[in-house]
Amino acid sequence: MGRYTGPVCRQCRREGQKLFLKGARCYMAKCPIEQGTGAPGMHVGRRAKKMSEYGSQLRQKQSLRRQYGMGELQFHRFFEEAYRREGVTGEILLQLLEMRLDNVIYRLGLAPSRRAARQFVLHGHILVNDRKAAIPSHILKVGDVVTVKDATGSKEAANRSVEAATSAQLPQWMSFDKATLRAEVLAVPTREQIAPIVDEQAIVELYSR
Ligand code: SF4
Repeated sequence: MGRYTGPVCRQCRREGQKLFLKGARCYMAKCPIEQGTGAPGMHVGRRAKKMSEYGSQLRQKQSLRRQYGMGELQFHRFFEEAYRREGVTGEILLQLLEMRLDNVIYRLGLAPSRRAARQFVLHGHILVNDRKAAIPSHILKVGDVVTVKDATGSKEAANRSVEAATSAQLPQWMSFDKATLRAEVLAVPTREQIAPIVDEQAIVELYSR
């Protein structure tokens, strides 16, 4: 299945929680989740059916996948990579997702949403270790240095976003110099630093069926 291109808020409504897909609007009262808008297709007065264990695991997976704006296939590839690596699969999956280049750009406040961050990377505005990095799913490593291309357009767009990013919290596992727009990966994020919106173990169990 390809990447979802429909109305963004519909995905949050489907999952019944905020996935923070729209930048500043997600922190405003007009967010449909804040307003209590239900799942798409759910009519007022209609009772939600009790969810099976499988259904619940599926929703956990979909929430995480949608939060990071990934297609099914790519998400599954990330899971397989996490499974191959030594350690707790669910935690490694979260770490791999969090260390994606587009997610890092979003977390630093260089773009207002992950979707915008993906575009920013795709358009060649970002360098990793002084080399152009135009692949949003690129997984960063400890010691990698992320900078914005030395071009007026790139710097201006990044600065505008950083200034407007009231909600952006600098990840503790990165350093970021706002003046030079230079960031460095200091460590692999811990589960607590990622603060996942889902129970990642449910996703491991879903893929183990
Ligand atoms: Fe829309 Fe953001 Fe609210 Fe999700 S969190 S429903 S994307 S405004």
